[in-house]
Amino acid sequence: MIKGGHGQTDLGHKHTTELQDNQDIQHAHENTYILPSQLCEPENRNAIVNALQDHNALIPKQFLECYYSYQNSHQRRYLRQINFLAQLSFLSYFFADWFLLPDIAYISGVTRVSAVLSIMLLNWAMFKYCKNILTLDLLLPLSSAFAASVWFWLLHQSSSPSVHYYQYASVIFILLGCLSIQVRFRPSILTALLISVVIVAGVIQMNSAQQTIIFLLVYIPILIFSLYISWNNALNARRTFLRSMLDEWDRHMLRELAHTDELTQLNNRRQFELIAEQKIHQWPQYQSICLLMFDVDFFKRINDNYGHDIGDQVLQKIAEIARKEMRRDDVLARFGGEEFVALLPETSIDDAMMIAGRLRQKIESTTVCISNTIKLNFTISIGVSQLDPDEIDLHLLIKEADVALYRAKQNGRNQVVSFDPLPNEV
Ligand code: GH3
Ligand code: MG
Ligand code: MG
Repeated sequence: MIKGGHGQTDLGHKHTTELQDNQDIQHAHENTYILPSQLCEPENRNAIVNALQDHNALIPKQFLECYYSYQNSHQRRYLRQINFLAQLSFLSYFFADWFLLPDIAYISGVTRVSAVLSIMLLNWAMFKYCKNILTLDLLLPLSSAFAASVWFWLLHQSSSPSVHYYQYASVIFILLGCLSIQVRFRPSILTALLISVVIVAGVIQMNSAQQTIIFLLVYIPILIFSLYISWNNALNARRTFLRSMLDEWDRHMLRELAHTDELTQLNNRRQFELIAEQKIHQWPQYQSICLLMFDVDFFKRINDNYGHDIGDQVLQKIAEIARKEMRRDDVLARFGGEEFVALLPETSIDDAMMIAGRLRQKIESTTVCISNTIKLNFTISIGVSQLDPDEIDLHLLIKEADVALYRAKQNGRNQVVSFDPLPNEV
């Protein structure tokens, strides 16, 4: 998350910090599972744009898991509510039974209450323990198939003549089963088939062939209509997800642009101050924090002699080397023109001097190729300061490193100096 930090060190520091963890957790919540950083590649963004342009808006394979997580956080509540409402309506149809099938009113009451209680219990357990949204999405269709079989069993028990027109109320099961499906369309075909098998089997048993055909003439258009709406629901869910992901992506890119230095891809000064300020106030005071400030020696000469582009390459090379030298929790930034800073949490002044010395050496031994024959060497000077536990002030820390850097320049450049009344050279 923090640019410039790499988990490489031989100093054996503890790198993971509470701040980092808290920020990661907070980040995960903000994004509600959209856009994991490992998928932030331009070709993945293109895949989303293409999917949105496609009529079927199919979710690209690499985003399927994100899609289910997204649906889990957005649809879970809706699914729980619609399941509950469906059970209440199943229960309320007892009154219809009471008027239309008075001979089985008692069995109907007992059966409906027991069926609803057992399904409610199942739903409660599923919504509490099951994290898989695809399973939860199928709960209502499967309960509908179960309820349809219970209801046809009740119709069978009755000898009331009303049974023949009351059976048409069974279309409510296919409507409920299909319209509640949100996440994937394919399972809704299977569950629609299952509900239809239950209904048609029930109808065949109670009716003559002619009555069954009349029932099917009424039932099939409703089946097709509800499947079509189910398809549309799944399509809209996919499109909403893809659009949200694209929005999230663009916001992320804007944030990155605002925080990143374009030439070196390190944090810019504003972002450095923001993160460093958080870090120094979060750390327990007994632990040491140090800051390195480094500046290219005679950089103006490099620009004057070889041109601005070569100067830019030198800055990029320095950023690359410094990035490799830093650890995960270090905060590295381009502070200004040819000036860089690095905040080293949980680092003693001796270790900071060692890290700075190693960085200085690595840069001294690096070259930038100007042509086949000319290779450019360059050096940096580094000022090191240590945070005063009694006065936690980032600007003071930076100022002291700057003073030390100034001394390093005065002493002849290409060296490391710590902020100290007696400068300490490496
Ligand atoms: P010293 O050793 O004392 O640091 O000398 P210096 O020549 O490095 O210091 P000075 O501050 O005089 O020069 C810094 C130069 O850096 C001046 C400026 O044009 C150049 N510079 C600043 N930003 C950039 C950049 O993004 N790209 C390039 N190529 N040059 C830059
Ligand atoms: Mg300078
Ligand atoms: Mg300079």
